[in-house]
Amino acid sequence: MDLEYVKGKPLFTNINKINHQFNYLTENLETDVIIIGGGVTGCICGYYLSKNNIKTTILEKGRVAHGSTSITTSLLQYELDDNISQLSNILGLENCLKAYNLGLLALKEIDDFICEYGNKCDYIKRDTLLYTATNLEEKAIKQEYSLRKENGFDVEYVDSSNNKYPFELKAGVTSKNGGIEIDPYKYTMQLLNVSIDMGLNIYENTEVKNIHYYDDYIEVETSYGYKVKGKKVIVATGYNTALFTNRNFGTKFCTFNIATKPIENLNKFYDGTLIRDNSDPYNYIRSTVDNRIIIGGEDISFEQMQNKELVKQKYDILEQRLKSIFKNIKNIEIDYKYCGCFISTNDNLGFIGNDKNKNLWYCLGYGANGILFAILGGMFLSKLYKKEVVKDLELFKVNRFDS
Ligand SMILES: Cc1cc2nc3c(=O)[nH]c(=O)nc-3n(C[C@H](O)[C@H](O)[C@H](O)COP(=O)(O)OP(=O)(O)OC[C@H]3O[C@@H](n4cnc5c(N)ncnc54)[C@H](O)[C@@H]3O)c2cc1C
Repeated sequence: MDLEYVKGKPLFTNINKINHQFNYLTENLETDVIIIGGGVTGCICGYYLSKNNIKTTILEKGRVAHGSTSITTSLLQYELDDNISQLSNILGLENCLKAYNLGLLALKEIDDFICEYGNKCDYIKRDTLLYTATNLEEKAIKQEYSLRKENGFDVEYVDSSNNKYPFELKAGVTSKNGGIEIDPYKYTMQLLNVSIDMGLNIYENTEVKNIHYYDDYIEVETSYGYKVKGKKVIVATGYNTALFTNRNFGTKFCTFNIATKPIENLNKFYDGTLIRDNSDPYNYIRSTVDNRIIIGGEDISFEQMQNKELVKQKYDILEQRLKSIFKNIKNIEIDYKYCGCFISTNDNLGFIGNDKNKNLWYCLGYGANGILFAILGGMFLSKLYKKEVVKDLELFKVNRFDS
């Protein structure tokens, strides 16, 4: 794990028993695809490739799901960080709607995975709410509602007349069953267990130290000197891509989460809707199956993550905000506080596909929808491996900001 990318005491790797350890690499290997990084992204890619009978090996330098995956809120929604009206200026309306629809497709993929292999990751289908408490942003929310409604998304408009939430709002857009929550550690482990049964290899404590490019294959050198040769490499190293490229993919931030202790009778106060507010800095809220509330947001620049005083202030702001939103819940106690790196892109989309070398592919779930982008990445890259044309890859092209 890159210690500088994650700080604090993550909820999900602390409440789960981490009793399984995968072997480290002790021999040279040859495979079809090498995935570098055993976070949720690498394991999602491993699942799709294995499902398509592509011989795949994941190399993880530390422990599986202990990087950014250990601190993701795992609030999965089809919508993007910015609203359609803002994003249309960058992406165009058509691409913006396409991205929303791809989000829905990725959510459906998770539903199908759970149907096929069972719910071993605290998966819950949830309604979502995007809201504002200020008069200033009422118009923006109305516009987001209208654009989604006109374009066939299943949404409802909320204002003070039909507000069922325990806090005041001026305007909101809800999507019935528009989101999913999961436990990211359990989900990653479930993906791995399913994929290993289909032939996936995974090695923990195996860092890729060097990479050699040839015409038709790539060879990576790992810690202790063992080499792995593959036709393609997928970089799924999260926010650290320095070994492969000096490309600056987006703007690095630090974002924060706090999680409460389990709250008695939580469902009397909060129905589990995935909540996001429209302000800047924004907040987002979800619950967990053991009745905690997680609130996140309050982003600062990545460099400021070293400023202990500022970090403490951000946790305090989140705690106050949580208590002001859920005024009816007495004695809320905070159990976990953690923060980490996050990369934001102008068009809110991640990066999938190759850059300069045709055999080195990226799957980088940047932006707030990282896990859904990883699912699209897994689907698209396994098709690409089989030489199928994947038109939607255009949206996620690595060099799209070059000109
Ligand atoms: C506080 C917070 C909240 C978030 N909330 C959400 C959310 O609600 N929804 C959402 O979709 N996304 C969210 N994100 C983004 C989210 O974290 C990512 O989408 C996802 O967890 C990233 O997973 P990953 O596998 O790409 O990265 P990581 O989990 O960081 O995995 C990368 C792995 O690569 C390994 N690695 C790196 N270099 C090497 C090497 N040289 N050799 C071998 N292994 C290597 C690392 O050890 C690491 O385990 C959030 C992020 C943060 C910080």
